[in-house]
Amino acid sequence: MDPDQFNVAAEVQRYLATVSGAARANSDAYFEGGYWLLLWGALLSVAVNWAILHFGWAKRVSAAVQRRTKRVWLADIVFAAIYMLAISLILLPWTIYTGFVREHRYGLSTQDFGAWIGEWGLSLLLGAVVFALVAAGILAVIRRAPRTWWAWGTGLMIAVMTFMILVSPVLVAPLFNDYRPMQESPLKEDILSMARANGVPADNVYVVDASRQSNRISANVQGLGPTVRISLNDNLLRQGSPAEVKAVMGHELGHYVLNHIPKMIPVFALIILVLFGILAWAGHAAVRRRGAAWSISSLGDRTIIPVAAIVLSLFFLALTPVTNTMVRTSEQEADVFGLNAAREPDGFAAIAMKLSTYRKLEPGLWEERIFFDHPSGRTRATTAMQWKAEHLEEAE
Ligand SMILES: [Zn+2]
Repeated sequence: MDPDQFNVAAEVQRYLATVSGAARANSDAYFEGGYWLLLWGALLSVAVNWAILHFGWAKRVSAAVQRRTKRVWLADIVFAAIYMLAISLILLPWTIYTGFVREHRYGLSTQDFGAWIGEWGLSLLLGAVVFALVAAGILAVIRRAPRTWWAWGTGLMIAVMTFMILVSPVLVAPLFNDYRPMQESPLKEDILSMARANGVPADNVYVVDASRQSNRISANVQGLGPTVRISLNDNLLRQGSPAEVKAVMGHELGHYVLNHIPKMIPVFALIILVLFGILAWAGHAAVRRRGAAWSISSLGDRTIIPVAAIVLSLFFLALTPVTNTMVRTSEQEADVFGLNAAREPDGFAAIAMKLSTYRKLEPGLWEERIFFDHPSGRTRATTAMQWKAEHLEEAE
């Protein structure tokens, strides 16, 4: 094609026009509904935690746990675990609506209710164990170092996060899905070749049976150091052409080569530090104003946990545009890396359209900045067509 006749905007429109009518309306409705779920989810969490404090539930359970053991740390662990199980059960109807009913309504889920609730239970069990240990750890740090706990606490959170990133691909992910090495094929050879060309250990291409849960197309890179896994899901393999799969894997290699996971850790530390500052302020306010009623005499009391949950819900709701923009910026970097590595701009634009089953294609400017943790389909098609425009002469 003559480079002078290649019009980026027109090419992008050609791609966007492939998703229209009911498919486009569904895509928009599913994604826009998610904005409200963010808000309602946070408000619901605030309401439930407030009720737990207001009706004296936290106070009574804390006292009951303390009567059964002299060891404060053990009482903290048991209280935190009971709290997690209780709040998850109270919020279960909401979780069923957002995670099961709504996913089926938009044709995204492939699970029956039994399988879904089984995974919910397993996640809750794992979550309760981790939450109980972390909460008890933070409470112990607050009691030992009432003035400098926020610094030690941030250190503890970084250690926990690093550990979770390290072990989850090998210990947690296999509890929910099977990860198998991709079958030998010319496509696999292409992916491995692309990996070697970009300095990525070449034996790490896995296929995950994500079709057990949904028909979403996806791929990801998980882990850290020795546990790094680059995997694509079986939905992508079934629904994508070889060019499309290569384009996606180029993107995933980008996350690996650009060290997106390790770079997240210091950013996470900064966020936790700010969060702990707000927690200290809100915690002291709760002790002053509601200490007697809620049975919170200091920041190190386990009954502070529902107060912390309220702060956490509002903090992360308010931070949504910031966290989304940080992630989306990395995703944009990986998009460009992937185009350079895979050299499949049309494959990339085509797969960006297929992602419209769960992500809106054409948001407004601010809508994308606030609510998108990945570039929109329009942004991705534009990146791809811009890349293509600059490489037309090589293609001839
Ligand atoms: Zn990505």
